Amino acid sequence: MEYDVIVVGKGNAALCAALAAQENGAKVLMLEAASEDEHGGNSRFAGGVMRFAYTGVEDLRRVTDISAEEEANSDFGSNTREHFLDVMHELTQYRTDPDLSELLVNSGLDTMAWLRAKGAKFILNHGRQSGIIDGKRVYFGNMPIEVNGGGAGLVDYLDATAKKIGIEILYDTRVGSLMQENGAVCGVHAEQKGKAVDFRAKSVVLACGGFEANPEMRARYLGPGWDLCKVRGSRFNMGDGLKMALDIGAAPYGNWSGCHATGWDRYAPEFGDVSVGDQFQKHSYIFGLLINAEGKRFVDEGYDFHSFTYAKYGGEVLRQPSQFAWQVFDSKVTKLLRSEYRIKMMTKVSANTLEELATKLEGVNPDGFLKTVRDYNAAVKKDVPFNHTIKDGKGTAGIEPPKSNWAQALDTPPYDAYSTTCGITFTFGGLRIDKETGQVINVHFHPIRGLYCAGEMVGGLFYFNYASGTGLVSGAVFGRMAGRSAALAAKQSEVI
Ligand SMILES: Cc1cc2nc3c(=O)[nH]c(=O)nc-3n(C[C@H](O)[C@H](O)[C@H](O)COP(=O)(O)OP(=O)(O)OC[C@H]3O[C@@H](n4cnc5c(N)ncnc54)[C@H](O)[C@@H]3O)c2cc1C
Repeated sequence: MEYDVIVVGKGNAALCAALAAQENGAKVLMLEAASEDEHGGNSRFAGGVMRFAYTGVEDLRRVTDISAEEEANSDFGSNTREHFLDVMHELTQYRTDPDLSELLVNSGLDTMAWLRAKGAKFILNHGRQSGIIDGKRVYFGNMPIEVNGGGAGLVDYLDATAKKIGIEILYDTRVGSLMQENGAVCGVHAEQKGKAVDFRAKSVVLACGGFEANPEMRARYLGPGWDLCKVRGSRFNMGDGLKMALDIGAAPYGNWSGCHATGWDRYAPEFGDVSVGDQFQKHSYIFGLLINAEGKRFVDEGYDFHSFTYAKYGGEVLRQPSQFAWQVFDSKVTKLLRSEYRIKMMTKVSANTLEELATKLEGVNPDGFLKTVRDYNAAVKKDVPFNHTIKDGKGTAGIEPPKSNWAQALDTPPYDAYSTTCGITFTFGGLRIDKETGQVINVHFHPIRGLYCAGEMVGGLFYFNYASGTGLVSGAVFGRMAGRSAALAAKQSEVI
């Protein structure tokens, strides 16, 4: 059977591409490597926070219902386009492709409203980045919305819509290469439960993730040691889409030696576990200390809100001896720790004195740890008040590395410590695309007829670092664009 558009993958970007293609009149087939039980890619593991530009409550109302009472009792802040663009540029050391990031920033809100129209339900992000200040709920970090049910919820909503409108989906179907005629992509070669199968279409959208689950490619592109990290999400993102596109001359683009990686339970399984989701992560390190095997600190834990450091600190943990770090807290901050510090499956020790704790931190030099804490406690600025809802400037003086915000002496037992290693989320290297259509560009900068890509496969957006909540929105923005363009191109090819 011939289709107008084949979408490879079934995560958020793929579902958005399929829905947009169908909305533009295409007959769509989705091919998913995973079984129906394991479908949904990294999107299904996502916590579900979504970052987009908004100026106030009226913008947020396009995405979710907000009652008059909620409005009166909340400070939603804003995330202006200018601010979001500054964040994209600063975090990527001014390397982000300006057209791609503008597209992401300018289309985010419209795309969120489109997702809502496609059945997704969004809610206020109470749990992760808000606090009650002077009787009002204050949202900080410019991200007051999350999808109901997290990434799994998003996949379920879009999946339900796709099924309702008759999009065909085949599981256990791993696409291995692209079919071409006269230079145009006209289908895919796949393997379905051990059998070779070909599928033909006028356009193909690749939305099948990066190479984060592939240790060989990680070591090759990210560097030595990256084969040793844990994978936070799907085991199916093996770099297949990137390889098949490069094989037909697609241009690689972006930060191929870079990735998003965070602190993750040291003894978590090799790949993500959907029943645990993102909860092996440990993102409250901003309120404590990160300690390596020598008992030393090695990053500024309080440089910024975790949203702006967590995606690169996983790599810093990987670079420590034996690739681990303990996160250490005292009881003053226990109530501020996120939900992931209260799950059953985690590597945690507690003690009533620092000396006792030092003996419990597996793999850590106890004397080194105790000296680090003494030096740190002495360096904390005592005259600045602690406030977790702003960058409070309560830092340290005279130690390296400094802790710039939320620095309080570690002096109030009981002490809790959590052992982490590096968990990779997704890789930054991708393909060069046309910025108006999502069409893949070849190494000589000509568009490849019939080929589009979206999601993690788009290169050029992220370099070195990443702002939390950007992955799902970028998957939706670029997925929607690629799906629409693929459908329109399929229609045009009929006319010709
Ligand atoms: C633990 C975790 C938490 C996260 N939290 C957030 C968050 O809160 N907010 C946010 O914005 N982002 C978050 N992210 C990042 C976000 O999930 C990803 O950036 C985004 O979901 C990627 O979407 P995608 O559609 O490009 O890829 P995916 O969702 O990974 O989809 C890729 C699809 O391709 C399929 N596939 C792979 N190879 C083949 C093949 N050869 N043939 C056919 N199919 C194939 C896979 O099975 C999968 O269905 C998180 C990620 C993880 C892992």
